[in-house]
Amino acid sequence: MAHPKRKQSHSRTRKRRTHDKISVPQLVVCSECKRLRPSHMVCPFCGYYKGREIVTIKIKKKKKKQ
Ligand SMILES: [Zn+2]
Repeated sequence: MAHPKRKQSHSRTRKRRTHDKISVPQLVVCSECKRLRPSHMVCPFCGYYKGREIVTIKIKKKKKKQ
């Protein structure tokens, strides 16, 4: 099998991995509920997009056990 002739340096590994980073999600304020939602996506809180209701959000009411 093919085998690398030399060990790859830490520097070279780090240089390659400079591109392996997570970007911060692009958040905008929802025009309906005024909460932060990802842009170009239906609001996960109210289900609105471009002023229209796209998805009906089920309201979950969980009571804490005491
Ligand atoms: Zn919303």
